[in-house]
Amino acid sequence: MSVTTTKFKHVSYLWDEKKAAELAGDEVALLIYRSNLLGADLRLTNYGGGNTSCKAMAKDPLTGKDTEVMWVKGSGGDLGTLKRSGLAALYVDRLLALKNVYRGIDHEDEMVELFNHCIYDLSSKAPSIDTPLHGFLPFAHIDHLHPDAAIAIAAAKDGKKITQELFGGKIGWVEWQRPGFDLGLKLRQCLDENPGIRGIMLGSHGLFTWGNTAYESYINTLEVIERCAQYLEENLGKRGPVFGGEKLKALPGAERLSRAAALAPVLRGFCSSKVKMIGHFTDDARVLEFIDSNDLSRLAPMGTSCPDHFLRTKISPLVLDLGVADDLSDVKGVKERLAPQFEAYREMYAQYYASCKHPNSPAMRDPNPVVILYPGVGMFTFSKDKQTARVAAEFYINAINVMKGSEAVSSYTSLPRQEAFNIEYWLLEEAKLQRMPKPKALSGRIALVTGSAGGIGKAIAKKFADEGACVVINDNDEQRLEAARKEFAGAYGKDAFAGEVLDVTSPSRIRAVYDAAALAFGGVDIVVNCAGLSISKPLQDHTEKDWDILYDVLVKGQFLVTQAGVEVMRKQDIGGDVLNIVSKNALVSGPNNAAYGSAKAAQLHLSRLNAAELGGDRIRVNVVNPDAVISDSKIWESGWAEGRAKAYGVSVAELPAYYAKRTLLNEIILPEDIANACYVLVGGLMNKSTGNVLNVDGGVAMAFVR
Ligand SMILES: [Zn+2]
Repeated sequence: MSVTTTKFKHVSYLWDEKKAAELAGDEVALLIYRSNLLGADLRLTNYGGGNTSCKAMAKDPLTGKDTEVMWVKGSGGDLGTLKRSGLAALYVDRLLALKNVYRGIDHEDEMVELFNHCIYDLSSKAPSIDTPLHGFLPFAHIDHLHPDAAIAIAAAKDGKKITQELFGGKIGWVEWQRPGFDLGLKLRQCLDENPGIRGIMLGSHGLFTWGNTAYESYINTLEVIERCAQYLEENLGKRGPVFGGEKLKALPGAERLSRAAALAPVLRGFCSSKVKMIGHFTDDARVLEFIDSNDLSRLAPMGTSCPDHFLRTKISPLVLDLGVADDLSDVKGVKERLAPQFEAYREMYAQYYASCKHPNSPAMRDPNPVVILYPGVGMFTFSKDKQTARVAAEFYINAINVMKGSEAVSSYTSLPRQEAFNIEYWLLEEAKLQRMPKPKALSGRIALVTGSAGGIGKAIAKKFADEGACVVINDNDEQRLEAARKEFAGAYGKDAFAGEVLDVTSPSRIRAVYDAAALAFGGVDIVVNCAGLSISKPLQDHTEKDWDILYDVLVKGQFLVTQAGVEVMRKQDIGGDVLNIVSKNALVSGPNNAAYGSAKAAQLHLSRLNAAELGGDRIRVNVVNPDAVISDSKIWESGWAEGRAKAYGVSVAELPAYYAKRTLLNEIILPEDIANACYVLVGGLMNKSTGNVLNVDGGVAMAFVR
């Protein structure tokens, strides 16, 4: 069979015959290959959505006889990155035999436990709830996907009729039903009643397609989705303008971003009324088309259709009643305006919970919105971490695509609220949530650490990222920053950090970095003033320039960065932390240190003044006093080491040992030691401390706080 890529316009044909030929004979390898190709095209299925399977003969380890085994994507994971370890392998005959013990739809949840009795490969991933959907269909290769183009038809009022006509009866239809054992039986029934079909559309949900080989299944899947997408495209605009036409013009790009940055911390504050949330913002063209349309007010409250969509985005979005020209600098006014809108949303959610709950339903979850739409500006999403917030945005874009397609060919219908509730508060879903690892100490928090491309700052940013925080790394040196970006991307992934050039003496750059933090994560919780430099000279050799740069970076820098950070924290109104990395030299008087030592003393007192002022906002200000941290620090460039060595009468090479020896503990101080102290102050156990000084200097009696 030869298929050219030109046959497909709406999906990507990625099959490489040479690669597939290398896998010939290994059906599981071909299944994984196909799954990865399908998962690589988000038009075929959303992130983490859908599953695939194959059935083949294998040796039974007990009897040595050939037996039929089904390999199917297990619970969790994504098709695009599926590996053998992500599959569950089950005996087909045992799976089919479960029909004999099935007690009916009211008891279908108990079947999930029984899947474990059918496991062939003991190192299998846990079988997912979709396992019987594959098990009861007798095909060697099966794809179950959530393509926007198919869901648009599946969620259309006339979806069944359209499917029938579009495929000449070759695609069956099964009405919406929660996935599970019973839906597996329904799929089989549909096939028995319609022999010869090439797939089945699941109402409000997605698509099943299959083939005798991995390739046949792949091509069948692509053809069906291509046909759906083509049909939607042909009809787009025929029933009237998309989403009823434009109601308002989106702001120009730069203005959208600056408004979003200004508003994000306010929204984050409202969304964090129960748990601290991380935000994501997008002004994707598909989002703007929807939120600026006449139909927004009709479609948005209806909610989403595919279960994947609303599990990620909640029952419906909050559409802000806020104009594009409203004054966002009046923070108090904006909050007063938005508070009742959030209250109404929470009320709506509580109402939904109360009216749909069953006697054994889990307790109501956080009633705050996940998706917030700001017409003319864009979409904010908030969740427990950046990846979940970003993926929620992707899923809402899937939902927008579905509504657009449905409305083009018919009318969009969402899932009935009770059905949505039954999925959202499904006991199996709850059990999945309970199995999730406990959040880390700093998860849900956003930290900006100045001077974090190297030395102490980088160690602090890494420690915070290790503990679950989103970090904004920065430096005034673009090259150094780029190296740190690469390091953080490799160690923590793209969702864990943002990287910005920052000169702490420049108010406009400081503002830009906080704006970037607001757009990337929603705001800031922890500000660490760490950027610094040092100059050691006898009084007579100190220049005015030396004096100015030290005071500009150390004192003014701390003042400006703190001031702008507090502004963001006050918008959020959920407290915060300021940590100032000062120095033993703030307390100890030594030679050749007039400018640096006095600037450090100013930093220390500024910290205490800020602590005294910000307690009412639940913003804590604490100081870490390091001494003699030598590795990977800018401080040791520009002759400082030589200067100190000279002052102490030792060589530069002897400095670390010299510093260690003059401490009570005889310890060399590393950047990681300072990072640990910072973590101690913000990790949760010290929440009732402010205005403190914590030394990390190996013990220098002269530097004890008196
Ligand atoms: Zn599905």
